[in-house]
Formats: sequence, structure tokens, C-alpha cells
Amino acid sequence: MCGIVGYIGTKNSLPILIEGLKRLEYRGYDSAGVAIINSKECKVIKTKGKVSELEKLVSAHPVESHLGIGHTRWATHGEPNTINAHPHFNKEKTLFLIHNGIIENYLSLKKGLLKEGYEFISETDTEVLTHLIDHYLKLKNSLFQAVRYALNEVEGTYGIAVIYKNEPDKIVVAKKGSPLVIGLGENENFVASDVNALITHTKQVIYLEDGEIAEIHKDSYTTKTISDETIIKEIFHVDVGIDDITKGGYPHFMLKEIMDQPESIYNSMRGRLVYDEGISKLGGLQGFEDRIINSKRIIISACGTSWHAALVGEYMIEQYAGIPVEVEYASEMRYRNPIISKEDTVIFISQSGETADTLAAMKEAKKKGALCLGICNVVGSSIARESDAGVYIHAGPEIGVASTKAFTSQIVVLVLITLMLARKRNLSLPDGQDIIKHMQKLNEKVAEILKQNEYIKDIAEKYADSKNFLYLGRGYHFPVALEGALKLKEISYIHAEGYPAAEMKHGPIALIDNNMPVVFIATKDSVYEKVVSNIQEVRARKGRILAIVNEGDTQIESMVDHVIKIPKSHNILNPILSVIPLQLIAYHIAVKKGLNVDQPRNLAKSVTVE
Ligand code: GLU
Repeated sequence: MCGIVGYIGTKNSLPILIEGLKRLEYRGYDSAGVAIINSKECKVIKTKGKVSELEKLVSAHPVESHLGIGHTRWATHGEPNTINAHPHFNKEKTLFLIHNGIIENYLSLKKGLLKEGYEFISETDTEVLTHLIDHYLKLKNSLFQAVRYALNEVEGTYGIAVIYKNEPDKIVVAKKGSPLVIGLGENENFVASDVNALITHTKQVIYLEDGEIAEIHKDSYTTKTISDETIIKEIFHVDVGIDDITKGGYPHFMLKEIMDQPESIYNSMRGRLVYDEGISKLGGLQGFEDRIINSKRIIISACGTSWHAALVGEYMIEQYAGIPVEVEYASEMRYRNPIISKEDTVIFISQSGETADTLAAMKEAKKKGALCLGICNVVGSSIARESDAGVYIHAGPEIGVASTKAFTSQIVVLVLITLMLARKRNLSLPDGQDIIKHMQKLNEKVAEILKQNEYIKDIAEKYADSKNFLYLGRGYHFPVALEGALKLKEISYIHAEGYPAAEMKHGPIALIDNNMPVVFIATKDSVYEKVVSNIQEVRARKGRILAIVNEGDTQIESMVDHVIKIPKSHNILNPILSVIPLQLIAYHIAVKKGLNVDQPRNLAKSVTVE
């Protein structure tokens, strides 16, 4: 998920590696490291924290070498600490590996290696791959073949770069599901997970595809498939300047993170769906399933955007798993002495895993004997460590203060939990499989919505001078209405309210006049006709209406000022699709107003105060 750089040539590698890692910092990461090989020694330097820390360590021990690899890690398996940071190495410290992605079958591979006497010092999946390559090195005596054989045993995703003391004239790289580019220079070559790390050195690049592996020397390279067939790769000229590369070419982290969603949503469900059984498999809940299923009640506790995801979770768990669910603000739960018993399960949702109120609420629930589960993005965070069990959302680093991709991934994880509970209670196999089929198409549908970015921008900009906004939805779209309003408040400083559409007539309708933009989420579901009536009520009072509707809907189009069309999906997945136009609306209004989208006033990314 994070950064890879590698160098082989005639220059000193360490400054090039550090510079490359700095260019990848925009992706967010939690630790960093480098490994170099020269004729006298192999050296690995790693640290928790920033590349600037790594740079200090590297400058304290300057060493000349013409071969090296560097990595920024965003932890998925094991806490962000120095031992878990990459590069990982074999016992002799002669083989070094950096890896982006997840080795899904690392536990079974590890079992086999333990039997052979391999020892592990980190908690990572990556170290398992390192020892697996070492195992094949002893059999094949060729780094390239050892990597190839090892990767043939791997399930999951990887972008990797490997160097080996006994073959100091090469870097071996491979890719599946995680990007990897080779940069071609004069008497020097480069590798990286992202062209940004290369473009100050070369504009000539080769993009590896999934299932491809390459051996790179300083003045040549070979590319093959993982089944050892030689392939000829096209060389591309990248037309990216140094000014374009902050934030991966996007003007703001928030837009980049919105655009990341096809990938982040896929990453949240990857390896967790078992179609044949119509169920999800969540390693982090293993051993706790029965206790959750037999809970008298599930409470979901969170703050802000995560609290909106919790509301979606309430609707889906009650509808499909038939277990009573309550949603509670963590800040309220921690102080009001709630009735929680040993028979309850409490799920805590926090992107950072450090939200002070959520952490305190969890401590309270633990004291009362409830089973406490965490749903977090940041691996090794306090909530992840202190909960009894949990599920990571694997959305990748989220840097923009206003949460976007973490929200959609939180809902994906809640769907996975619902599916597991529902199938173990009374959801039929075909119904479970139907949800999975829809989940598998979700990233394509998200990408389809994102293609409308320019169209949504044009609409949003028309409303940049509005003073108030109303967001209305029913059922699964009620929490989405709340989230749309929150996004707008957070970054554009426009007052906005979200309501269940039917509640409008109990108060907010008094606000409606021809200056009031009203955003309706009106997809074709069981409450569609009711929402259409609410649209008519706003229309009768001359409100300006913007409706999120399903493709093919012609009824609403004729009643409102603007429609944004989203693909149809399963009803529990609809909130993931309908929130995306709302994220873009908030973003474009804030940009139009010239505001600091990524760091809005008064807000912090990880709220570690009460
Ligand atoms: N799964 C690996 C780890 O946790 C790689 C993480 C990354 O992509 O940075 O160490």
C-alpha cells in the first residue's frame, strides 16, 4: 500500500533512496527503512516514524554503495514499529525484501517454514515471504528463480523488490495487485511503486503488470511472467513534472482519497468473501463468532463520520442478522453509566483507532464485561490493541481531515460482519451469495460514479454561495444524509443539516424557500415512492433540489433542478455508492470558496482529546 524505491548503478544509492522515499511520503506511512549491499557489507537501517528520522540515522552511518532498496510501510500485519518495518531479511542478513500489499496465506506458509526451523522476529506477513525466498534460494541457487518459486506459493497481493549479497549485480522485482515501475537510466536503473519517486532521475519507465517479474541490472533488464516465459515490455515516456507530484498528482489529499475508493473498497473486502458458502471470513473475529451471534444486543459506539457508519451498521445487522442493535455516541456512552452486560457485544469504530472518546467508552464497556470489538484503519492503534478482537478496514492511509474512503470501507466491514452473522443465523445461501456478487462489482460501480466528477463539480459550484443546505434520505440513506451534511460543514463552513426525509415536515420544512438547496438521496428501494412525495413537498415550496437517483430513473428527473445518477446495487451496499457524489459536492464547494480542504479550521484528523 505504501512506498517502494530501489537503485542499481554507479552513484551512491542511499541519498537516492532517501529522496525517493520523501517523494512517496504523500501516501502516508508509519515507518521507513533501507537496505544496501556493497563489496564489504550489507546494511539495513529502519525506524518507526518519518523518513526524516531515517535520514538522520543514515547520515550518522554514511556508507557508499551502488545497490539498495528503501520502503515506507503502512502496517497491515503487526504494529508500526522498527522490527516490523521493512526491509525484512534472512537469518544471515544477506537477503533483503521490501513489500507492499498483503500475503493472505502467510500463516500457512509460516507453519511450513517453522517446521523447517526458520525463526521469525517480526509479526509481518512480509517476513514470511522473505524466509520463503531464502528457502528456495538454498534449493535453486538463483535469486530470480527463488523469488519466482516463492511467489508461485503466495496468495494475496504484492509489489516487491529483493536484493541478495551473493548476486550483487541485480534487483529482482515482481507485482500482483500493487503497483511497480522500473525507471531506465544511463548506466543506472531504478524501481519504485510510483513514478513520483523516479521522475527526477528518468522519464523512461516500464510498468510491470500483475504476474510479471523482472531482473534489473545497472545497464540491462529482463522481464518474464511468473511462469518463466520471457516477455517484451513497452517503454513509456512519462510526462510528469516535479510540480505535479505532490499528493499523487491530485490538488488535495481529500480528492485523491475520494478517487482512491474503487481500490480502498476492494482492499477492505479482499480475501474475506467465501462465495461457495455465501459468507464472509474475518480472521480478526475468529474464535469470537459464537459469542457475537449469541449476544443479547449489539451496541455500536463511535464519533463523527464513524458514528454515521455505525447507523448504517444498525440497519443492516437488525435487518439481516435479526440481532437488536443500538448506536451510541462514544462521548455520551463513556459518562452516562449505560446499562451494558456480559451478554452484550460492543463494536467501536474509529479510523485512527486513537479517538479519545471512543477509547474511553471501550474501557467502560470492558469494565462491564461486554465483548469489545474494534473496527479501525490504523494497524496497531490503541483501539486495535485494547479491544478483544476486531477487523481492520485496510483502506490505506487517510490524510485529508474530512474522512471519505475510511467511511466507505467502514461500511464494507460492517457488511462483512452482517453477512457472517446473518448466514450463521437465518440468511439463506442464495441470499448470502447475492450480497457477495454485488460486493464484487462494487469497485466498478464506484469508478463509474467518479467518472462524473466534472459534471458534479459544475453542479456543486452553482451552490458555493449558499448559506444553508438540507440533506434528506430514508432507510439506509438517512445516515448518508447526515454524512453528506457533515462533509459540507467540515470543509466548506456552510451550515448543513441531515434528516430522515419524513422528519422534514416536523420542522425543517419551515426553512424551505427558493434559496434553500435540498439534496435528496432517492434510489429505487422500498421507500422510493415516499421519498418522491417528500421531493414534491419541497418543490411546492420552491426549494432548489438536487437528487441522487439510480441510472434509468426518469420520474424524478422532471421534478428537480439536478440529478446525479448512480448504478443500482444491493440495498445494504447503496450507502457506499450514494455517499460518493456527496463527498464530491462538499469538496468542490470548498475548493470554489478557496478554503483549505485538507486541513479545515478547528479540526484535527485524529481526535485524541475529549
Ligand atoms: N503487509 C505488509 C506489512 O504489514 C506490507 C504493508 C505495506 O504495504 O506497507 O508489513
